[in-house]
Amino acid sequence: MPIKEELKHKIIDGKIISGLLVEKVSAGIFELTKQDIKPTLAVVLIGDDPASQVYVRNKKIMCEKVGIKSVEYKFGEDIKEKELLSLIDSLNRDKGINGILVQFPIPPHISKQKTINAISPDKDVDGLHPINAGKLMNNIECLTPCTPQGSMIMINSIAEDTSGMNAVVLGRSNLVGKPMSQLLINANCTVTQVHSKTKDIQSFTSQADILVAAIGIPNFVKSDWVKKDAIIIDVGINRVESDQNATAKTKLVGDVDFEDVFDKVSAITPVPGGVGLMTVACLMNNTLIATKAQHSL
Ligand code: NAP
Repeated sequence: MPIKEELKHKIIDGKIISGLLVEKVSAGIFELTKQDIKPTLAVVLIGDDPASQVYVRNKKIMCEKVGIKSVEYKFGEDIKEKELLSLIDSLNRDKGINGILVQFPIPPHISKQKTINAISPDKDVDGLHPINAGKLMNNIECLTPCTPQGSMIMINSIAEDTSGMNAVVLGRSNLVGKPMSQLLINANCTVTQVHSKTKDIQSFTSQADILVAAIGIPNFVKSDWVKKDAIIIDVGINRVESDQNATAKTKLVGDVDFEDVFDKVSAITPVPGGVGLMTVACLMNNTLIATKAQHSL
C-alpha cells in the first residue's frame, strides 16, 4: 500500500492541514486584490437554528481571515420560496458577488432542490448544483462540495497516490457521501458505497484501505469493522452526553469510535479538530476558484 511508513499511526490534524490550505487561499486572494478584485461571498441564513448560526459565524470569521468580503442575508422562517428565489436571482446577476451560499436546513415550505438549482453554477461554492455534480461525475474541473473536497485533501496527506486502493464510503447523501465516492473514483480507488439498506456493512468496511464515515450515528464504527492499517476519515459530527466527571454536559464525537479503532489503523481524523475545519477552508478555496473563473484568470 502506498502509505508512507513514517505517517502511520498518526492523527490527521485538521488544524494543520486546513491551516496550510487557508494560507494558500489567502495568498491567492492577496494576488487578486492587487488587481482590484475583492472576492465576495453572499451567505443566506433563514430562521434561528442555533447550529446554522454557529456555522455562519465561523464562515464569516474565516472570510475575514483570508480577505473575502462576506455579505449576510438574514430572514425569518416565514420567508416565501418566491422571495428567496428572487434574491438568489439578483445575486446571480450581481457582478460584485462571486459566491452564493444558502445555509441548510431551510424551512420545509421551501424546496431545497429548487433553491440549489436557482444558484448560478459558477457561483455555487457549495458545489451542489446538478451541473457541478454532473461535471464531478465526468471528472471535469468544477466547484466540488466542501466536505468531500476537504476529506480528499486529508486522504492525500497520507496517501498521495490512491490508485488501486479499496475505499468504502458510509453514507450516500448528495452533500457528502455521493461526491466523496466520486472524488475517490476519480482518484482511481475501487469504491463501495454503503447506506442504511446495505446488508452486512462490516463485510465491506473490513476490506477498506480508506474508510470515510458520513452517517451521523455516534461511535458507529468499531475496531472489528476496520481493516488493519486503514486510513479513516470521520465526517460525522454528533453531540452526545459527556462522561460523568466532565465539566461540559455534552461533547462532540464522530461516527467512528476513535479510541476503539486507534491502535489498529494507520491514520485517523479526530472529531472535533478534523474534517469540520477542512469544510470551512474548502469553502474559502471554492470562493477563490469561483472568483478567478469569473474573471477568466
Ligand atoms: P444525511 O444526509 O442524513 O445522510 C446520512 C447517510 O447515512 C444516508 O445516506 C443514510 O442512508 C446513511 N445511514 C444512516 N443510518 C445508517 C446506518 N445505520 N447504516 C448505514 N448507513 C446509514 O447526512 P450527511 O449530511 O451526509 O451527514 C452525515 C454526517 O456528517 C452527520 O453527522 C453530519 O453532521 C456530518 N457532517 C459533517 C460535516 C463536516 O464538516 N465535518 C459536513 C456535513 C455533514 P440512506 O441514504 O439509506 O438513508
